[in-house]
Amino acid sequence: MKQRRRIYEGKAKILYEGPEPGTLVQHFKDDATAFNAQKHDVIEGKGVLNNRISEHIFSALNRMGVPTHFVKRINMREQLIREVEIIPVEIVVRNIAAGSLAERLGIEEGTVLPRSIIEFYYKSDPLGDPLVSEEHVTAFGWANPQEIDDMMALAIRVNDFLSGLFLGIGIQLVDFKIECGRLFENDMMRIVVADEISPDSCRLWDIGTNEKLDKDRFRRDMGGLVEAYTEVARRLGIMNENERPRPSGPVLVASKDKLH
Ligand code: C5P
Repeated sequence: MKQRRRIYEGKAKILYEGPEPGTLVQHFKDDATAFNAQKHDVIEGKGVLNNRISEHIFSALNRMGVPTHFVKRINMREQLIREVEIIPVEIVVRNIAAGSLAERLGIEEGTVLPRSIIEFYYKSDPLGDPLVSEEHVTAFGWANPQEIDDMMALAIRVNDFLSGLFLGIGIQLVDFKIECGRLFENDMMRIVVADEISPDSCRLWDIGTNEKLDKDRFRRDMGGLVEAYTEVARRLGIMNENERPRPSGPVLVASKDKLH
């Protein structure tokens, strides 16, 4: 098999050179990290589930006219994406207080927010992704005001779509994170949704029981992460009742030269 050029390795994904210029292959690993990678584990099947769930969401966004980097799923762990220039800002949308917002402002987790709140975090592992304001984003040149407007508009459309999608399957969308990138096409540039949208990047609570169906199961040592992600996939109709998430293809031996 031809060796592919590895472009980037992150905590949960690897990007390889794609089959055509301007494309990449996004590979979902089973690694789970939290608290800026201080907590790490390998959870068999997580990558397969996130690949499928993210495919489902990005395909629907594309169909609705919300531009994304997603082209198609290639196999159990990989998808073809368009190469974009990632804006180093994470956009978090919150509908219900939880996580760092609940902690920072002393609001009880589960409190419905007066309206959806958008926050920006600077993508920096050494700094632990600090919360920043629009002023920081523009002053340090991470994105210009027009790009911030575009990212906020995308984030709101994603929130509207995802809230409805999950409500329909008995799940409350508490909050989520997206990343955006600049897609260059024939002298034109537009901002598109990039990275992934999965239970790793969303807080999802069962409406009936408030059971957590997201990465908080790992962050908070609750266990049952694969079962929870499988339940999300099952309710979305993308996993057969009896299908177990299996790693496909050759089993990779962990290499020592991982990029961080
Ligand atoms: O931890 P916090 O409450 O700020 O997270 C808000 C939302 O953003 C959660 O859904 C979390 O899963 C997501 N998030 C993420 N990647 C990060 C930080 C947060 O996907 N680096």
